[in-house]
Amino acid sequence: AHLDRIAEVDGAVHAFLHVDAEGALAAAEESDRRRASGAPASPLDGVPVAVKDVLATRGQPTTCGSKVLEGWVPPYDATVVTLLREAGLPILGKTNMDEFAMGSSTEHSAYGPTRNPWDLGRVPGGSGGGSAAAVAAFEAPLALGTDTGGSIRQPGALTGTVGVKPTYGGVSRYGLVAMANSLDQVGPVTRTVLDSALLHEVIGGHDPRDSTSLPDPVGGLVEAARRGAAGDLTGLKVGKIAELRGEGYQDGVEERFEDSLALLEKAGAEVIEVACPSFVHALAAYYLIMPSEASSNLARFDAMRYGLRVPPDGVDDPSAEQVMRASREAGFGDEVKRRIILGTFALSAGYVDAFYGKGQKVRTLIQRDFAAAWAQVDVLVSPTSPSTAFPIGEKQHDPRSMYLNDVATVPANLAGVPGISVPNGLHDGLPVGFQVLAPRQADDRLYRVGAALE
Ligand code: GLN
Repeated sequence: AHLDRIAEVDGAVHAFLHVDAEGALAAAEESDRRRASGAPASPLDGVPVAVKDVLATRGQPTTCGSKVLEGWVPPYDATVVTLLREAGLPILGKTNMDEFAMGSSTEHSAYGPTRNPWDLGRVPGGSGGGSAAAVAAFEAPLALGTDTGGSIRQPGALTGTVGVKPTYGGVSRYGLVAMANSLDQVGPVTRTVLDSALLHEVIGGHDPRDSTSLPDPVGGLVEAARRGAAGDLTGLKVGKIAELRGEGYQDGVEERFEDSLALLEKAGAEVIEVACPSFVHALAAYYLIMPSEASSNLARFDAMRYGLRVPPDGVDDPSAEQVMRASREAGFGDEVKRRIILGTFALSAGYVDAFYGKGQKVRTLIQRDFAAAWAQVDVLVSPTSPSTAFPIGEKQHDPRSMYLNDVATVPANLAGVPGISVPNGLHDGLPVGFQVLAPRQADDRLYRVGAALE
């Protein structure tokens, strides 16, 4: 049914870069056999899943939305992909994304934009717009995304889906093509909070192949979602973040946010305002730290080991450097080049303290704001994104207005805390997202509060 749905709508939505019908059907048949014999591999055995094209899948292309990796087929699976296979989830294919997960609209994909199923003239958010659109358009019931600065949560908000960024270290990054190692996390994209909890329990847990992996899985997620669905939040303290509202936020987004706060109070939660004064600098710090790490990571695309290799024009016996230069010039898009330049500058001798070092100091202040907040409340809440889905093309050539989409999502990545975006009603017919943040390793709280809002 999902393959039929993909055939029907993906020409218009363009959520997928690659569909593996054969592999998915073979996995589904195996799952049928297991379930018929009463021995399912997991509660999600047989439920298809779509995977963001930044995660390595053995035998299936993995492009990261870039020309640099066109045609590359990894010889191995990311740990999360292995876990999906072991749990019996057929993998439908790979979803579109901004090139190397840089962007908030999926317009920076080298393979063309993904369109928002709610309005095909608008973006689905980014960088994981393909995963979010696939789920919103009923092409897949579940998907995996990655969130470095909001790429699961913001597309969730713009497409009316649920998106979760787990605690940093809670889900393995092995086989995730690194953008910014200290910020990246893999997480679920689904239509319900319970589905996210189920998928999170499949992909979470310790991985010896990821040195930042936490020793123990963050558990109790499904139980928390079921408990939250009962709608009783008595005793829960909720902090609305003072800095993540007001100027720059659409009126309709704020109104829907207030509606959800009223629902939380009705469910018995106590809502207070919490100040996180350093959050106003989070975006600036993020856009120094993220390009710095990314510029270093992307040095591996040197045209020597794998990926695109372009001979320089009119040179008979080119040097390695000339080949690298021609290949990187041809293979990377503008946004990727912008960040390589920005990151390389921020890390360069003479500037590293003024830019990268300053960014890291702000990061510490943001972590302190969170620590102070957790002394007062159990969870923090804000709108996920300052606006609903914007028209395709509106911000594509204006990096600063594009970056502003991430203002409410980047603090969680800078501090490693978990966050969820849950659908928060519509404004002018377009979805709005409600964000819940929790202390590190308290991911269960996201599910409890998220399910109570459904
Ligand atoms: N939109 C943010 C950026 O462009 C977040 C990206 C992400 O989370 N992968 O960096």
